Amino acid sequence: MRLFKHITKLQAAIAEQRAAGNRTGFVPTMGALHEGHIALIERAVAENDYVVCSIFVNPTQFNDATDLVKYPRTINADLAKLYAANCSAIFIPTVAEIYPENASPTPDIDFGSLTEVLEGAYRSGHFDGVVQVVHRLLDIVRPDHLYMGQKDYQQQAIIRYMLEQLSSKIQLVTCETVREKDGLAMSSRNMRLTAAQRAIAPSIHATLTKVAQQMGQDSIQDLEQWGKEQLTQKGFVVDYFSIVDGKTLLPIETFDATDSVVAATAAYLGDIRLIDNLILK
Ligand code: AMP
Repeated sequence: MRLFKHITKLQAAIAEQRAAGNRTGFVPTMGALHEGHIALIERAVAENDYVVCSIFVNPTQFNDATDLVKYPRTINADLAKLYAANCSAIFIPTVAEIYPENASPTPDIDFGSLTEVLEGAYRSGHFDGVVQVVHRLLDIVRPDHLYMGQKDYQQQAIIRYMLEQLSSKIQLVTCETVREKDGLAMSSRNMRLTAAQRAIAPSIHATLTKVAQQMGQDSIQDLEQWGKEQLTQKGFVVDYFSIVDGKTLLPIETFDATDSVVAATAAYLGDIRLIDNLILK
């Protein structure tokens, strides 16, 4: 496993792989790695000859300055996990390396409502930052395959759309959400939960699961309302609990209206914001 801090050296190593006819898989992360991230690495290792993982806490996607400061950083543990998972290369750039003054601009893509709804409605500018950093990292790594998690459903939908709009040859592979035994979606932010908050946190997945079971029996509006109430009663402050079209992420009237349906939620426990989703159809 090789560690790179600079673009030029990383690109030289990737070019060598490409010249040898090897396929490159890429897993962008912000570190504080858990089994969810490692599942992406393992999938990439299984499907590629060379796997690059980036660890970069991207300042431009944090709409909340405190969240950026408090974002966990566990670099030594991260390196040990990546080594154990047979990752080939780790890219840990500085902010100046990713955003130099002469960086080529992010392409101006019209995402329509895709970046405006759900997370976009509550985290102003967040997806501009995500698109900016993923575009920049892809431009550096130029992988054959990009691996992202379903945990961030809207993020992977936006990046899929970006790749389509750019007619990119990079294939996006979306990997299932990895959960704790009690259903809580693994997240770097979970380590900040108090014991009391940690005990409540699995209610998110439990509520989404109950909604999935009621699909087709209760109306969409009733289920959204019920989900929000359940989480509020447990002590969450809910940003949204929405059942949407899985492609456009727009609200739907009935379950029959589309062939792809996702329930997605974002809710706070104290100052920690958790998100999760479940594909209903
Ligand atoms: P992050 O470090 O939070 O930016 O996440 C890096 C990548 O890991 C993103 O593509 C996430 O969607 C993915 N990821 C985060 N948590 C999980 C999880 N519990 N299961 C699967 N993928 C995840």
